[in-house]
Amino acid sequence: MTLIRFRASQEQDVDLSRTYDAVVVGSGAAGGMAAHVLTSQGMKVLLLEAGKKIPVEQELRSMEWPYDHPRRGEAPPGYHAIRFNEYTVRQPPYAKGSAFKHVFSYVGGWGGSDYVKNILVDEKDHPYTGTKYAWVRARLLGGKTNIWGRLALRLSDYDFKGKTHDGYGEDWPISYADIEPYYDKVDLYLGISGHKENLPHLPDSLFQRPNKLTGAEVKLRKSLATMGRTLTPYRAGVTTDGVKNKYRSKCFGRGACDRRPGGCDIHAAFDSPTGLIYPAMDTGNLTLRTNSVAHEVLVDPNTGKARGVSFVDSQNHRTYEAKAKVVIVAASTLESARLLLLSKSRQHPNGIGNSSGHVGHNFCEHVMGPGVTGLVKEMVGAPPTLDDGKPGGFYVPRFRNLQDKQPGFIRGYGFEGSSGFSIFPHSVWGTPGFGGQFKKSVREHAGAFISMGAFGEVLARYENYMDLDPEQKDAWGIPVLRFHYEFSDNEKKMCEDMANAGKEMLEAAGIEVVGVDKTILTEGWSIHELGTARMGTDPKTSVLNQFQQSHDVKNLFVVDGSSHVSASCQNPTWTIMALAWRSCEHLADEFKRGNL
Ligand SMILES: Cc1cc2nc3c(=O)[nH]c(=O)nc-3n(C[C@H](O)[C@H](O)[C@H](O)COP(=O)(O)OP(=O)(O)OC[C@H]3O[C@@H](n4cnc5c(N)ncnc54)[C@H](O)[C@@H]3O)c2cc1C
Ligand code: SF4
Repeated sequence: MTLIRFRASQEQDVDLSRTYDAVVVGSGAAGGMAAHVLTSQGMKVLLLEAGKKIPVEQELRSMEWPYDHPRRGEAPPGYHAIRFNEYTVRQPPYAKGSAFKHVFSYVGGWGGSDYVKNILVDEKDHPYTGTKYAWVRARLLGGKTNIWGRLALRLSDYDFKGKTHDGYGEDWPISYADIEPYYDKVDLYLGISGHKENLPHLPDSLFQRPNKLTGAEVKLRKSLATMGRTLTPYRAGVTTDGVKNKYRSKCFGRGACDRRPGGCDIHAAFDSPTGLIYPAMDTGNLTLRTNSVAHEVLVDPNTGKARGVSFVDSQNHRTYEAKAKVVIVAASTLESARLLLLSKSRQHPNGIGNSSGHVGHNFCEHVMGPGVTGLVKEMVGAPPTLDDGKPGGFYVPRFRNLQDKQPGFIRGYGFEGSSGFSIFPHSVWGTPGFGGQFKKSVREHAGAFISMGAFGEVLARYENYMDLDPEQKDAWGIPVLRFHYEFSDNEKKMCEDMANAGKEMLEAAGIEVVGVDKTILTEGWSIHELGTARMGTDPKTSVLNQFQQSHDVKNLFVVDGSSHVSASCQNPTWTIMALAWRSCEHLADEFKRGNL
């Protein structure tokens, strides 16, 4: 059976003498969606991507067994992934002075580092400075979507109208009703697997076939229902029934995306190149230029409007200009803020779109670390079953501060978890003994554990921000970001509650609690960075309007997570794409009317 029938469109020669209708910076979830929507509206688009286009299927080798790899999936000597302890005791830039030739973020230390060594950035070339931060970046066509964790969740009005609910921060300039039709479009175009639960705080998607829960998960689900809480199959941004897209296959439940740092070589899991960019290229309206590191949004000195983008070719180090009538920044939350701050001109002395002084500020994300592990006694000694042949385990949505009011903190958190047999029984590390008895014990217990870890909302605060380091530059001579960011008391109190609530839930289900982790992981660990160019109705306190359009420069749009007003506790990628779809539809309308 042939799973992928079509090769990706070849790159075209890029004509930089012409003026494109739009130039998009970045090809991840946000940039890919912008390219898809604008080209389908007939606009001529140039997509600039800083990274390479790599043969990602050959890189991921999803069907390769550990024993077929010379180092069981590990990268060759000379590659090093930063460990939690290093993030804890050292300050960025973490690769400075390292004896290793290549240094990666902590994701490069997950099982199977060889499969991501050409996907994650080398921290030696891409330093940053300031406060502790575990920054995970993927610089290649498709960005982080090549290896994302696939949990695809919607936000609700508990999130969009958080200030109305509890008085903190700002409401978003949109409500759920505004974005719901675009979530639907994303679901239908890309495919999402899940189970309907009818929860007001976690709206359902238009789901394809859900993943099956294990016995332990069904047991916990039943018990949680009596507490008014929900355990639902992982809502995966994966097409389980198939979508109309010649570059993608439906999911065959091979589990490779969940056993390794991520990625699916048959593209059942959404990634931006096959889900969005190649189909956009097939319209004939999209031109792609990779290895193009944007470092300035150019401004027309007469009008103050954006007139294009200046970029460095990452291979030959030469600088070029791309001309366009509209500029769309989608380089990911932190890189987009960096690009806006780098784009200083007479008209925009603090960086383009930054008359409010809010670019780089109000940074928010998810705090994580606390979690629990339980032993389901009746599963000990049970015959092995295929439990990890699927793209994810389960999700327990937020249950705090909905109808109730917690004494120590506002907002909430959700749990991601899994259970049952897996290709490698991780419980082996904690199993005492040796020899035959040890092996017997590992085998008997291999499918009997259930574990879950929480992701909580970090409050957006003006004091949490990034600016440009006045001295440090990256390998292309571009000033890097400097972090000024730390968790507040609200996040720390929330983390205490995560560990306690996790324990309480397992105990209530009659599952023996064998591990409670209270450690808070380094800032940035969630890889859900948001909020550095937030939307709002007031140009004095926000950067973008509800269509992710700059308040200052009407032909400049920033369509990634930087526009989010608050982090909520749900993973952001599906919202990033729904918002980008909505904004780009508006952009195309305005463009046709001559309003940009
Ligand atoms: C291991 C992992 C697990 C994750 N799990 C989940 C999950 O379960 N659920 C979820 O919702 N999200 C998850 N995420 C996060 C998700 O990947 C991001 O939310 C999503 O990719 C953001 O899309 P983006 O377009 O903003 O950024 P990216 O996907 O990072 O794309 C940005 C692109 O812009 C390019 N770029 C950057 N700077 C420039 C420049 N100056 N010039 C030109 N191009 C530039 C980059 O090379 C990149 O290709 C995970 C991420 C990782 C790494
Ligand atoms: S489980 Fe599905 S999405 Fe994951 S690697 Fe296998 S086919 Fe791809």
